[in-house]
Order: sequence, then structure tokens, then C-alpha cells
Amino acid sequence: MTDLTIKRLNASQSDFDAALAKLLAWDDSVDHQVNESVRHILHEVKTRGDQAVLEFTEKFDRLSVGSVAELEMDNARLQQSLKAIPEDQRVALEQAAERVRDYHERQNQKSWQYEDADGTVLGQKVTPLDRAGLYVPGGKAAYPSSVLMNAIPAKVAGVGEVIMVVPTPDGVVNDMVLAAAAIAGVDRVFTIGGAQAVGALAYGTDTIPSVDKIVGPGNIFVATAKREVFGVVGIDMIAGPSEILVISDGKTDPDWIAMDLFSQAEHDEQAQSILISPDGAFLDAVEASINKLLPTMERADIIRTSMADRAALIQVADLKEAAEVSNRVAPEHLELSVEDPEAMLEDIRHAGAIFMGRYTAEALGDYCAGPNHVLPTSGTARFSSPLGVYDFQKRSSIIGFSASGADRMGRVASVLARGEGLTAHARSAEYRIKGGAS
Ligand code: NAD
Repeated sequence: MTDLTIKRLNASQSDFDAALAKLLAWDDSVDHQVNESVRHILHEVKTRGDQAVLEFTEKFDRLSVGSVAELEMDNARLQQSLKAIPEDQRVALEQAAERVRDYHERQNQKSWQYEDADGTVLGQKVTPLDRAGLYVPGGKAAYPSSVLMNAIPAKVAGVGEVIMVVPTPDGVVNDMVLAAAAIAGVDRVFTIGGAQAVGALAYGTDTIPSVDKIVGPGNIFVATAKREVFGVVGIDMIAGPSEILVISDGKTDPDWIAMDLFSQAEHDEQAQSILISPDGAFLDAVEASINKLLPTMERADIIRTSMADRAALIQVADLKEAAEVSNRVAPEHLELSVEDPEAMLEDIRHAGAIFMGRYTAEALGDYCAGPNHVLPTSGTARFSSPLGVYDFQKRSSIIGFSASGADRMGRVASVLARGEGLTAHARSAEYRIKGGAS
């Protein structure tokens, strides 16, 4: 096997800005064929409900049953999966779930109110969603960790009912996924997938209830369907390929860093792994480790393609500059593999999750650290946050005027409403002014 040469960039190069922009460029152009096919599937599910779900499940997942009810895995079936998996897997799922729950409980938002001097009460009431839909991918691989990361925040938020969908191609059910659903307290599970599952959750069918928000990752058909049904229901985000950016002071074992970069690269060919360091010799050492370790990896082909196309080793003057470059990338995962990560934290402004110090492998965050692994990708950490309890809660404003408050603020509202030419608004406020108004 020929050695892999990773792209090198140096922040002192005159064309660094252009080189960085090129590295981060990501083709998110809409595939018209996928779009058309998804629109057709959604239309059919919306108009023909269960029957369309059955037909598409047969077509895409090669699973033929007589009714959608047969595709529901009831609680007894989930408990059976919990017993069917090896003891170490059950214990690991439970330990991960406990940490994820503990972390997310701290995110719970509280309603609040305050009172003006005139007795007017203002506040914010927090209400969980009535029903959330959780998409768990199942086409090519199974993702029990995704079940925990999506379902637990919903349950902690107090969502009334969590409905999970997961495709089971050829009817092959993954016990670890169902066991995770049991542990997370998912209320109902249907073994359907793709755009038809998203459509069923958005519009509802005779058997599958419609939900208020759909969360969870999936392939291009799932992502396109989520984009299409947004507005009918809420969605969490449209996730792009996974990314990791490691900032190293050059004092971590290069094998550790190489494996951390692999841990994202092995997700798929479009995943992105970037290492930034002020130490050029260290970048050479990590590149040597990459080539030494690559042949030992089960998913070597995916890693090789991903790293050949989208990985980079970036040399900077110092850690301050490393943080600046990282902020421009706004990575999904950022590892601060340095002596004093706390000291760097102040300079970090944009990242989905920040992994502090040499011992904090990003992989721990994927499974069991506690924080959510559903994170903003493709630079969207500039304006968005990890999936959390707040994604399953909404806020209503509370406004309660006292008589004297209505008098005082009614005068203000009247002036503004008349300025806007909205007479009904003005008069509605004026009726409540002391002495009244006509
Ligand atoms: P999936 O469940 O997303 O998709 C499978 C479904 O796609 C099938 O049920 C089928 O209905 C539909 N489908 C397949 N071919 C189709 C076609 N030609 N026309 C219409 N529909 C079709 O499972 P997957 O395919 O394994 O993809 C999982 C994705 O989720 C991957 O891209 C993976 O990277 C991503 N993922 C992301 C995260 C994250 O946290 N960001 C976590 C886990 C997985």
C-alpha cells in the first residue's frame, strides 16, 4: 500500500486563507433526483398513510408484512432484546445512559416570572413537546448510542411520548438498538425507515401518530425528507459529515492523535480530520503514525479516502493562532491536546464539543462521557448548539397586567399603534386606560 500524504497548510503562507476555504468547502448541493424521489414518497405517505408505508418498506427494506401494526415492537419485545444482548453490552448501555441522563438533567429549563412595581406579572412558561419522533438510522449499520443521545434528552425534558423509527432491512432487528430504546424509556418503536418513516411521523397515519418534532441523523433520503417536512413539524438539524479538529502542543503521543483523527475519518469518506500544531516535527510524526496504523484498521479504505480528500495538517506560529484558525473552522469536535487546556478555553469561540486535555479522546464523548454526541457540523457551531433538553422544550411568554399597569403601558401602546395606523390596536389598549377612551 502506498503511503498516504496528508495535505499540509501553514498559517504563515500568503494564500492560507484561500487554502483553508478550499479545505472546508463542502458540496451540499441538492441532488434533484433524491429530492424528487423523497417528495414522491412523502406525498404518498401523506395521502395513502399506512398502505404507502408498507409499500415503501417492502421496496427499500425488503420487508413485507400485512399491516403497519406488525412493524411495531412492543415493550415486551424491547425487554426481550435487553435480555438477548451480552451482559457487558447491557451494562455499558446502562452506564452510558446514566451519565447522559445525569448531564442532561442539568439542562432542564425552569419557568420564571417577575412582578413590576404596579403588580404587572411577566414571565416565561416552559412546556415540553407533546410528542417527539426519533429517527435512528439502520440501513447500513446500527447506532444504539444514537438512541440514547436522542431519546434521553427528550425524556428528561418531559416529552409526553417518544416515538422511535428504525429501519430493519430484510427484517433483521438489531437487539442492541432495541435494548437502548428500552433503557432510554422510548414509548413506541416502529421498524420503518427512510423518507417514508419521516413522512409517517410528520403527517401521521392510522397506526403511527404524528409528532411535533423529528430528531436524529440519517442518510440523504432521511435528511432531505426532514428538510421537506420542516414547518409541518420541527426538526433538530440537518447534519453534514462528521469532523474533528485537534489542536496539539506537540507533546501528546502521535499514535494517540493519529487514532483520534481516524475515529472521525472512519465514519465515512466525506468526514474531515484536521490537526493543528505549532510543532512542524510533530506534524511529521503524526503523519508517520497515520501510515503506520492505517493498515491495522478495519475500515482502512474509508479512512484512506476520507483523509486523502479532506484531512489536513496545519502548522501555526503558536497556540493562540491555533485557536484563531479553529474558530474559523468552527468544528463539530475540537480536541485541545495541550498541557493547559483551561488556558486555551477562553480563546475558543466556536465548536460543538470541546475535549479538554490529552486524556480526553473524542470517542468517549461519542458514547458515554455524558454530553450529547449530536453536534453542529459544517461550521454551524458558529450559531448552533449540541442537541439538548432545550430542543424538546418550548417557551411561552406570560403577560398579566394589573389595572394600573394597563393604564400606564396602554398609553404607550396607543401612541405606537396610532403611529402604525392600527386603530383597533390603539382602541383596545385605550379602553383599559383610566378614565377610558372612546
Ligand atoms: P438510514 O436509516 O439513514 O437509511 C436507510 C433508509 O434509506 C432505508 O430504510 C430506505 O428507506 C432509505 N433508502 C435507501 N435507498 C433508497 C432509495 N434508493 N430511495 C429511497 N429511499 C432509500 O441508514 P443508513 O443508510 O445506514 O445511513 C445512516 C446515516 O446516518 C449515515 O450517513 C451516517 O453517517 C449517519 N449517522 C450520523 C450520526 C450523527 O450523529 N451525525 C450518527 C449515526 C449515523
